[in-house]
Amino acid sequence: MTSLDMDVDAALAEAHIPSLLMALVHLTGDLSLLTPERRPEVATTISEEKVLPAEEQAEIRRLAHEKLTAWIDGGRPPVPDIGMDGLERMIRYLIGDDVDGSYIPFLEEEIGVRDFRKPDWSSPTLRAAAGAMHVVIIGAGMSGLLAAIRLQQAGIAFTILEKNPEIGGTWYENTYPGCRVDSDNQLYSYSFEPNPLWPQHFSTRDKLLAYFQRIVEKYDLRRHIRFDAMVEEARYDEAAQRWTVRYCDDRGSLQVISGDALFSAVGQLNTPRYPDIPGLECFAGPAFHSARWRHDVDLKGKKVAVIGTGASAFQFVPEIQPQAGRVDVYQRNPPWLMPTPHYHEDVSPAQQWLLAQMPFYANWYRFWLYWRTVDGMYAGVKADPDYEGGPEAIGALNAQMRAVLEQWIRQHAGDDPKLEGKVIPDYPVGGKRGLRDNGAWIRALRQDNVNVITDRIREIRPNGLVTEGGHFRPADVLIYGTGFRASEFLSSYRIYGRGGIELQQKWQGNARAYLGTVVPDFPNMFIFYGPNTNLVVNGSIILFAECSVGYAIDCLKLAALEKAAVIEVRQDVYDDYNRRVDEANAMMAWGAPQVSSWYKNDQGRVSQNWPFPTVDFWEATRAAKPEDFFCEPRVTPDRAA
Ligand code: NAP
Repeated sequence: MTSLDMDVDAALAEAHIPSLLMALVHLTGDLSLLTPERRPEVATTISEEKVLPAEEQAEIRRLAHEKLTAWIDGGRPPVPDIGMDGLERMIRYLIGDDVDGSYIPFLEEEIGVRDFRKPDWSSPTLRAAAGAMHVVIIGAGMSGLLAAIRLQQAGIAFTILEKNPEIGGTWYENTYPGCRVDSDNQLYSYSFEPNPLWPQHFSTRDKLLAYFQRIVEKYDLRRHIRFDAMVEEARYDEAAQRWTVRYCDDRGSLQVISGDALFSAVGQLNTPRYPDIPGLECFAGPAFHSARWRHDVDLKGKKVAVIGTGASAFQFVPEIQPQAGRVDVYQRNPPWLMPTPHYHEDVSPAQQWLLAQMPFYANWYRFWLYWRTVDGMYAGVKADPDYEGGPEAIGALNAQMRAVLEQWIRQHAGDDPKLEGKVIPDYPVGGKRGLRDNGAWIRALRQDNVNVITDRIREIRPNGLVTEGGHFRPADVLIYGTGFRASEFLSSYRIYGRGGIELQQKWQGNARAYLGTVVPDFPNMFIFYGPNTNLVVNGSIILFAECSVGYAIDCLKLAALEKAAVIEVRQDVYDDYNRRVDEANAMMAWGAPQVSSWYKNDQGRVSQNWPFPTVDFWEATRAAKPEDFFCEPRVTPDRAA
């Protein structure tokens, strides 16, 4: 036993071998450990990972035992610096020599051996500029908190306005049974704040909220947050070159705060969308949305009608099924299911030990997950214009993915006549976000007290629902799993830019932003999780938030270096960018004409998704390019001077 109460061999027995090998290289500084025989083969989310021969695994474990024990017994000295060349060799070893070179610096950052994304405002000019600035952040969810940390690191003052009485955003608001993250938690954490002690691979909502609460305490952010602050309006004052934000405080009084810049971090998925079904208002029993869960409603023995089979219903239906008397699931389109056998599993103490104790093991494990899940499936969801198959696929690779996933679904559905013709989507894989599945969904649908109703709903009556086929099914409780008004970006408050132009008026129902972040006529305003920054198969929104926040702060830096007070994206840059985004989205599974989803706005444009590889977003947001913007000198006396 080591001083840390874990038998090293027991921990190593559960090690992820490619990550262990990489960590061993750090521990020894010995790159010759990377032999061709040990080279792993990276699979994607939907294909099996190749397992190394047992004798190779045993040798890696033996060596790891020897070196790790010696390192612990030697008092945990600093491990050798592998250098950037060494790091690149390791990355190429893992993912292949032929990988596009543009990935390498991105991956070096993503591995998180150092916090490359930390803003550097240490020069005297920037320090002075930072000291004179104040930013108003709207929203204390994942993006808003991240922005606060980065501003703090840059030395820029900020105030966060949060409509809820607590931080957390989506993880505060969604309390429905079964709510959990669907990206592996080693990825769904800030790159600079890994958490080796995530209790589950895909942790539940309360664990996620606790993570963000710990972050708030660690960075002492709470004192900067005004809770119960409902923002009503943000207005750019051209004469003062400042943003004025009006909000209603916890006592209902109107308050005003101003800042040099506005960071809008209000999320995409928080305004519930209720279906447009006649009679909706007249339902007599409890009726609520998944994001406004009524914990006071006892579902025991009740007839529950659930509308929708998206990510939320997928998680709560298996949880409510055992207590409910009957669950009618009203489905328009079935979801694609992504085989994830360990979806509900705990991270074992042995795995946690390795993640926490072995230097760089967690970094490489995160990297591995990233590479497997992020861009691994990208090629398969991109349309092949020459593909001659049917509308259920968009290319040969996409059709192959369909075959694999269909098999997974059929394996769970068996030949259950109840589900015949109901659980295989007719739209291409990648048309909508696939749901992490360990079999729990179909298992729930197969229960005797569950019915999947695919006939469209015609009407809601006080005591039940009537379908197009004229069938009435009684219901005591109605639960909307119908998602959010996602394409109505920033519609929870009014934003006025130059000349008093209102943001929604500028957008005309078609939200756009350059790199999802900046909009012409709205100087010094930055949006996080903005238009076209959502992901279907290739990435984690935390990664996108880190890129967007870094970009926003770099824009402020560019202005500061130019001794300017204001930075604003050029209209032609914005137009050209959005044209490219639209063209690329049209070539993706989610942009295919046969797919309808919340990724498309009322005008049919994909307003939510990023259509390129993740690395392209990282590259584009790495630094603000002077030619993309115009800067305006300060008209009021220089407060930085
Ligand atoms: P969603 O994905 O938009 O799903 C809404 C569901 O309601 C769909 O099945 C939709 O059918 C159905 N629907 C809408 N109007 C309907 C109507 N009039 N009649 C019948 N069905 C109707 O919403 P969500 O499940 O809340 O998820 C939204 C997003 O939140 C997810 O994509 C994900 O990004 C995020 N989320 C993540 C997690 C997680 O695991 N981390 C969990 C929950 C949510 P159609 O498919 O036919 O439109």
